[in-house]
Amino acid sequence: MHLENKNNNNTYDVLIIGGGPAGLTAAIYSSKAMMKTAFLDKGAPGGKMVVTYEIDNWPGDKRINGADLSLRMFEHAMNAGSEYLYGDVTNIIDHKYWKEIITSDGNKYYSKAVIIASGMKEKKIGVPGEEEYFGKGVSYCAVCDGGIFKGKNIAVIGGGASAIEEATYLTGLANKVYLIHRRDFFRATDQSIKILKSKNNVEWKIPYVLKEIKGEKFVNEIVIQNTENSQLESIEVTAIFPYIGLNPETKFVSQKEILDDYGFIETNVNMLTKIKGIFSAGDVNSKLLRQVVTAASDGAIAAVEAKNYIDGLDVQ
Ligand code: NAP
Repeated sequence: MHLENKNNNNTYDVLIIGGGPAGLTAAIYSSKAMMKTAFLDKGAPGGKMVVTYEIDNWPGDKRINGADLSLRMFEHAMNAGSEYLYGDVTNIIDHKYWKEIITSDGNKYYSKAVIIASGMKEKKIGVPGEEEYFGKGVSYCAVCDGGIFKGKNIAVIGGGASAIEEATYLTGLANKVYLIHRRDFFRATDQSIKILKSKNNVEWKIPYVLKEIKGEKFVNEIVIQNTENSQLESIEVTAIFPYIGLNPETKFVSQKEILDDYGFIETNVNMLTKIKGIFSAGDVNSKLLRQVVTAASDGAIAAVEAKNYIDGLDVQ
């Protein structure tokens, strides 16, 4: 029995921060290992998967809608016995045997092991109008909001996998998609670029940067600048989707010694951070490849190692 010292509704063997593929996989493995397990999320379970139109590299599924895969993983975790808690974590306090997890609404949870699987959040471009028109034409989720702009002109910013894949999705809805990227090298795969190039309603604006988002009540124009000749150009659009990368979600981590210079969490191969009992998994980790499959793999390892850690605690 793993809960001899504390035994109430707020007490767990393993508490997982984040309900993306890393967190949900950790929840499945931890629950199946008979650990009292909960995962906490401040949004819909699934993380970035929920807002991904199509995933084409999850083994066994040639193509799967991100929201569908999220639901399947969520149901799997719940079926295994995990608890889903809604909350925005603001701090983790290390009391050695127990970790205390505090959320913005003042709730406190206790667990013997914590698995941080909080993922990453969209980077903002920082141009005038971006904040003002958020929800009024500026969106960071094509799958969620694309339908609102059916038949309109839309701009997508960025040259990574997200920008190219989401622009491709938007070509099916929009009258025209402007793909605006600051240089002629793309981080996205050649294959995904080829697919977007095959669409006849895309106008490529390269090398351009976004300078301003304008409108009245809603977005109706953007100003872009050619980086070679500095010339400014105005384009009439109803929506703009910036996809310029992501920042790690680690503001709540007060133990700065577990972070790298960019705010990602450093772990060993067993997903253990520098602090005993605090594990980390998925995109929030300092690593090279961030995919659903690598997040799931991290989550499985973290859960198994958390159980080994707890078993060691309980025989002391
Ligand atoms: P990313 O790969 O970091 O690409 C960000 C893009 O935005 C780059 O083209 C970058 O340009 C541009 N950019 C950055 N800051 C900018 C600024 N201030 N103004 C204008 N442009 C700016 O980000 P991502 O596309 O979100 O992908 C993140 C991770 O998720 C990647 O590892 C990616 O492979 C993965 N992902 C995978 C899939 C999939 O497997 N299907 C789908 C989506 C994402 P520069 O190139 O000039 O820096």
